[in-house]
Amino acid sequence: MKNFTWLLGLVTVACGASGPEFQEFEGDVAYTYVEQQVAFGPRVPNTTGHVAAGDWIIERLRATADSVETQEWVHVTLEGDSLRMRNIIGRFRPDVPSRILYVAHWDTRPKADKSQNLAQQQMPVPGANDGGSGVAVLLGVADALRANPSNFGVDLLFVDGEDYGVFAEESDVLIGSKYFAANLPEGYAPLFGVVWDMVGDFNQRFEKEANSVNGAPEVVTRVWARADDIGYGRVFRNSFGLEITDDHVPLLEAGLRVIDVIDLDYPHWHTTEDTVDKVSAESLQVVGDVAMALLR
Ligand SMILES: [Zn+2]
Repeated sequence: MKNFTWLLGLVTVACGASGPEFQEFEGDVAYTYVEQQVAFGPRVPNTTGHVAAGDWIIERLRATADSVETQEWVHVTLEGDSLRMRNIIGRFRPDVPSRILYVAHWDTRPKADKSQNLAQQQMPVPGANDGGSGVAVLLGVADALRANPSNFGVDLLFVDGEDYGVFAEESDVLIGSKYFAANLPEGYAPLFGVVWDMVGDFNQRFEKEANSVNGAPEVVTRVWARADDIGYGRVFRNSFGLEITDDHVPLLEAGLRVIDVIDLDYPHWHTTEDTVDKVSAESLQVVGDVAMALLR
């Protein structure tokens, strides 16, 4: 393992413009994970597509991770609906105390309220990028760790119910990350964590998100520096972005050092046009490479 890390370091010095020479994360395969999720249909809680996608994530993790755990509960919304919720956690080397946490939401938004016309606004978001891309990155990381374990323990957390309700009121959103924050595994204190959300569009660009900079600046520095090391400084920009309410917020509030890597500059956000043709395998490759470099 040490020799491998050393070799990777040499290679990246030699060709820093376009990512590591040895790409253990496979962007093309990750892209098929986006296609598979969208093929299940919208992953809206209490629908068959949601159940099927959750079962599929568990199946993928059973083939790759050392252990798979779920948290299942019922969330009652402001309107009184009961949602069947499921967080899924794939753990690699669960006995190792030095751990890294990666998070993605696996649900999709029930209403495409940013769509142009009223009829579309009542339809669900397909969620290729918003939901699908983050899950695809985590599953690609799982494949790479299966082939070549990290010295760190790694936890891949798929949270439910991120995108269900109203962000302005913070009602019925971030449901799974709030639940996880309130029900942490005993003594759980990862070294750091990253939420990967909306990471796969063609015009990929990440700015340092404000809640992350305020809550865990050392993690922002670490992630951006690692991205720059392997030649992705043009994507992970040295600039400050908006304050975004995402799954890292409840985790930060629970004392975990977790940041949000998100590209909210996406014209199809919360519309019916968030479809697989808007996602790029090359962009998934970039974030997958960064995610893996942080584990080496
Ligand atoms: Zn969303």
